[in-house]
Amino acid sequence: MLRLPPFRYLAPRTLEQAVHLLAREGEQAMPVAGGTDLYPNMKRRQFTPPVLVGLRGIEELRRIEGSPEQGMRIGAGVTLATVADHPVLQRHYLALATAAASVSTPQLRNMGTLGGNLLLDTRCNYYNQTEFWRQSIGYCMKKDGDVCLVAPGSPRCWAISSADTAPVLVNLQAQVRLVSERGERVIPVRELFRDDGIAPYTREWDELLTEILLPPADGWRSVYLKLRRRGSFDFPILGVAAALRLNNDGTVADARLTLGAVASHPLEANDAAARILHQPLSPELIDAVALAAAKRARPLDNADLTINYRKQVTPVFVRRALKQLMA
Ligand SMILES: Cc1cc2nc3c(=O)[nH]c(=O)nc-3n(C[C@H](O)[C@H](O)[C@H](O)COP(=O)(O)OP(=O)(O)OC[C@H]3O[C@@H](n4cnc5c(N)ncnc54)[C@H](O)[C@@H]3O)c2cc1C
Ligand code: SF4
Repeated sequence: MLRLPPFRYLAPRTLEQAVHLLAREGEQAMPVAGGTDLYPNMKRRQFTPPVLVGLRGIEELRRIEGSPEQGMRIGAGVTLATVADHPVLQRHYLALATAAASVSTPQLRNMGTLGGNLLLDTRCNYYNQTEFWRQSIGYCMKKDGDVCLVAPGSPRCWAISSADTAPVLVNLQAQVRLVSERGERVIPVRELFRDDGIAPYTREWDELLTEILLPPADGWRSVYLKLRRRGSFDFPILGVAAALRLNNDGTVADARLTLGAVASHPLEANDAAARILHQPLSPELIDAVALAAAKRARPLDNADLTINYRKQVTPVFVRRALKQLMA
């Protein structure tokens, strides 16, 4: 049985207390929301924070406010189950509700939060293993070692951004609010990410992600398609977030595409999506966009299924996503 390392658990009741505790306890402390990513990672000794600041008691992180006309504000502590089942999100931000519903299992969606999902640790076959397993192969650059076992000559880690909601929120051009004792800032979700498997987030250690801000729905239709080995529950091997806005004559006014689980950050393919602007969607055009978008994805041998299969299936999923949007 894998056991948690020892740690102190602090349970603030307000946001103000939480950011104060984070600042007071210093860089080694970590926030924990549902714990469905962090606790397993601690059991594998990928993280050993001496102090956890628990966010579950903070009511203000669990609110959903706003409207599709004005834009929605979703607290970082709202569970994935709530996002998945929310009627307004299902109707106006379908891709987000679909992505939340596709994360792991019902039990984990009842605990796991939207904020925790966005800040999920990057994943790799050589890293998401027990301490014993990782020790037996001499560890790797992401934790306790020096070399990348996927690309030994590489100066960087290629661990994968595997959060289902991340490509969707980038694609919807959502923003996030980050709050610390020093103040607060609102940034586009895309700026929360770095192309770096070891340090994939621009969040400072003393900042809490407090809410996700969705822009007005404004006629956008969105979908999320996910490739995984087991349909019942599994991390994505590929996620395709697509969104379109149509003109009255059926031509495409705006289009966006973002791929998940193919890089250390959600990969935007809006240059490919731009090919369909101002014209009716034909099967030939959809094929061209799918192939152009798929060229951006360069899967490595650090996730489930073969590289070749993952390369070939990417345009298939992009094509399916665009067809669903036109249906
Ligand atoms: C068996 C299994 C299957 C899974 N399948 C999937 C899957 O298919 N797709 C998927 O996307 N995920 C999957 N997950 C991962 C996880 O369940 C989800 O990503 C979940 O949304 C994480 O949310 P959480 O609240 O539990 O995060 P936590 O574990 O609490 O936190 C995750 C990280 O975010 C930080 N954090 C959390 N909240 C905040 C905040 N408000 N401000 C600042 N930092 C914060 C924590 O410090 C930690 O680094 C799976 C996990 C398991 C165990
Ligand atoms: S990509 Fe390389 S450095 Fe990163 S976790 Fe995998 S093996 Fe380790």
